[in-house]
Amino acid sequence: PADEVTALLERIEADGVKFIRLQFSDLQGQPKNVAIPPIQAEKALTDGISFDGSSIEGFARIEESDMVLKPDMATYTLLPWRKEEGRVARFICDVHLPDGRPFEGDPRQILKKVVADAAKDGYEFNTGPELEFFLFKMINGRPSLEFQDHGGYFDLAPTDLAENVRRAIVLALTEMGFVVEASHHEVAKSQHEIDFKYGPALQTADNVVSFKFATKTIALMNELHATFMAKPIYGINGSGMHTNCSLFKDGENAFYDPDAPRQLSETALHFIGGVLKHVRGITRIANPTINSYKRLVPGYEAPVYISWSASNRTALCRVPSPRGKSTRMELRSPDPTCNAYLTFAVILAAGMDGVRNRIEPPVSADQNIFELSKEERLAAGIDTLPDNLLEANEYLLKDELLCSVLGPHVVENLTRLAEMEWDSYRSMVHPWEVDQYFYQH
Ligand code: GLN
Ligand code: MG
Ligand code: MG
Ligand code: MG
Repeated sequence: PADEVTALLERIEADGVKFIRLQFSDLQGQPKNVAIPPIQAEKALTDGISFDGSSIEGFARIEESDMVLKPDMATYTLLPWRKEEGRVARFICDVHLPDGRPFEGDPRQILKKVVADAAKDGYEFNTGPELEFFLFKMINGRPSLEFQDHGGYFDLAPTDLAENVRRAIVLALTEMGFVVEASHHEVAKSQHEIDFKYGPALQTADNVVSFKFATKTIALMNELHATFMAKPIYGINGSGMHTNCSLFKDGENAFYDPDAPRQLSETALHFIGGVLKHVRGITRIANPTINSYKRLVPGYEAPVYISWSASNRTALCRVPSPRGKSTRMELRSPDPTCNAYLTFAVILAAGMDGVRNRIEPPVSADQNIFELSKEERLAAGIDTLPDNLLEANEYLLKDELLCSVLGPHVVENLTRLAEMEWDSYRSMVHPWEVDQYFYQH
């Protein structure tokens, strides 16, 4: 590592870096950072940098609040939008306690732990998230609810006014090392999707943080507000973060079996079985806001029913048609407000439970589940995802496997946050209630 530190210090110097941002994520997946001048880089890269964690959401501990940021050297990236006066580089960091132990509330290290556990059985977990977002106009310096454009799915300019912004976002991401695979206008007005290449879960979770941060920054530079909120507008599609998942073993895709029915291996089926078994608890993590549940309703291409299918897009778990190295399962419930580290951690833990305990998935739902009557659906044993954050949190608390993966510190903090948000939400008088009752009563 001493050589690695020296090489990095030389690179920082050669890149003309004036500020180094040490970045990490709080429990809700919000990126946090502290900037240090390059003169502190050597200390940061060898001993880490101390900070007070007491005001970071989900970090405060009763015992003490001193924590240490340890940069992951592989994450060194120049921020492309800071070119002129003084370049800025950033590292993504792990959070440690002063005695050197990993901090139990650091989402990144929770994911690392689950990844290492799967590696014991020889599996590498790859994820490919598809983030959707909206662009709204800034009016008088403030984000408004006015759409930037009125385009629809795969539309071209001039309907798609966002073409230039999307291009700027893609270029910035590319400069940051992303391999962008596709970008397009989504179904709703002013809604977009940019897809980047799948990779090992840890790297991809880091990428999700960078993706959101870069998108918001470039949008703002174009006088637009980018939001990853799950359902910003009632009556039109919300934004999802479909998560494509696969396990690799010895460099081969372990979900692919050319001789099996549907060319899906037992490992793939068991992984799906495990994910579906734990999906209610996973929902607390993958859909972490009150608003997330306004997306998970029928009629807007978002999943509602707990099912899987190799053919049908309405299923919660879908197996897209590519096979061979691209064989994967797409979990369609996560939304981009989730903490990607924790989301990938619980998906992997659930999937590995399926693989290790040979959990068979239910029969696949190859018809459009949204067209079934409630009776037909229940007869087929198809249940629904939790209706709201509080219910999802209760499922999480009942899921021993997920609770042990997250650890008591995180579970307690998630519960506190869910209860706090729910209390504030349920005591608020919403416009719907005024519309419904004000004139009539
Ligand atoms: N926006 C939809 C969702 O909420 C997905 C639309 C799509 O990508 N087909 O998940
Ligand atoms: Mg997509
Ligand atoms: Mg999409
Ligand atoms: Mg998709």
